[in-house]
Amino acid sequence: MLARLMRRDEFVGAVALLAASACVEKPRAAPTPSPDAAQTVAPAPSQTASSDAQTRGDARTPVDAEVDAATAAAASYGAFRRSPRAGCLALAKGSGPRWLAEADLRGSFVDGDDLLALVNRSPQGALPPDYAPRDMVDIARFQPRTPADCDKYQCIRREAGDGLRPLLAAMAREGFPAHIDSVYRSYAMQCQTFQGWVKRSEFCAATEQSALPGHSQHQLGTTIDLFTQAWKAGGATVFRQGFGCTKPGRWLQEHSWEFGFVFPYPIHPDDLHEKDDCVARSDHVVPINPKTGYRYEHWHLRYIGKEHAAAFHAALLASGPRSPSALTLEQWIRGRRGLVGDTELPVCDGCNCGACSTLASAESACGGRALAVGESGAALPASGAPTLVSARRATDAEAGKWAGTVLAVEVDVPERTLTQPPFVGLPGAGLVGMPGFADVGTTTHAFVPLPKTAPRDYPALPRALRVGARAAGGGEFVYAAGLADAAVGSVYNRANLLVPAPVGKKVYMLPLPKLDGPLEVTLLLGGEPAPGAPVLRVN
Ligand SMILES: [Zn+2]
Repeated sequence: MLARLMRRDEFVGAVALLAASACVEKPRAAPTPSPDAAQTVAPAPSQTASSDAQTRGDARTPVDAEVDAATAAAASYGAFRRSPRAGCLALAKGSGPRWLAEADLRGSFVDGDDLLALVNRSPQGALPPDYAPRDMVDIARFQPRTPADCDKYQCIRREAGDGLRPLLAAMAREGFPAHIDSVYRSYAMQCQTFQGWVKRSEFCAATEQSALPGHSQHQLGTTIDLFTQAWKAGGATVFRQGFGCTKPGRWLQEHSWEFGFVFPYPIHPDDLHEKDDCVARSDHVVPINPKTGYRYEHWHLRYIGKEHAAAFHAALLASGPRSPSALTLEQWIRGRRGLVGDTELPVCDGCNCGACSTLASAESACGGRALAVGESGAALPASGAPTLVSARRATDAEAGKWAGTVLAVEVDVPERTLTQPPFVGLPGAGLVGMPGFADVGTTTHAFVPLPKTAPRDYPALPRALRVGARAAGGGEFVYAAGLADAAVGSVYNRANLLVPAPVGKKVYMLPLPKLDGPLEVTLLLGGEPAPGAPVLRVN
């Protein structure tokens, strides 16, 4: 393994970057980077009982909450490791306009041997560059293979292989023999695969198509890209949409869990076609699923063991598969670990500033527009307390075409302040579809992030700052809005997670229902009035 790592940089420098998925096919296969290359991520839990429980009654001080969060995180993300050297140096600063901080290239938390390892796009979801499973077999003869062997063979961890064999046999019996495109992929190979995607499109598009090295579930040796031979024969690339709508695709959706395999990257419920679960709707642009970090992939299957797969399958059915609370694998794993929120933000690489996180406390591609993560995996404490500067009704010019009430609220936010959805804004502010609280029914407990999607709750997350508003006279602040740029909301309102709040003094426009009487505005922290924050009256 060490020898292989030593050679990695040569690989990286080499031009064979278009090389595709690593361990594809025995004799190395076609050099087209699979879209799947990215697949590796998958987070997302929130709106769950656990997050809610941790949130409620959080009237403690921010410092207490920080300590608790750090303690919980240390137990939940795994032990932090800093590798002696950064892997995939082509992604480090200096090699292009988009780059990853050295701390993010060297830091990792994940124990890859854990069948329920939380591998995703975030810093907390990274595998060490030198991680490779030690118990792999090839999938042709199921003979033991070393990680080095697996540069030549398609490999899988032995236990996953034990689940795969009967799955393949069952597919053959059903009349659709399988084609496996990609199985174990080393860190070095993922480095090449990712860069192949960059060359094919561009860096930011690649990050949504292909996992960064260390962030691919294929490095776990438990994840496969599974098609049928007929599908393989029917097109230039197997990584094309539609497989989920084929008979074999539907069969896999129904039965793969019986063999210990689950789908980490589903279609977000907001993006489902109204009649068909195998395809996305076409009446709005379908961005990444913020609960997984990727678009859906109906061929990317991960082995988590029969018992776990059965438990996850049951939990998914119970959560309401077409509802906004439909559980992802990541949410389910997070729930087991006591992690709050649906997911973590992806690593800052310059593409997603305002909605990314980093282990580089001093320097990242997004500067201060990043969520700073410590070695516990928890967000670092804010540098101070936020200030509610003023609140007033917006002028007609400011309110524009919004038919209801608009509040203009000025807030001064210190560095490293956290916030959470929903993020609202006036039409034209960068939000797709529903920009604010449209009627008295759409409070924070029943917010509709996009037209024609179901309302949902955004349970308060610990340490998250929001502006709260209500009709004067007391009671709950039923309109609570996060403080991120409005554009962040167009993607992240479809999850519930911690996001960095913009630093400094800024006026936020809150589109509310038509509310004629006096209103009250305050700051909420973890769902409760922030210590020391005034309640301002707006007539
Ligand atoms: Zn895959």
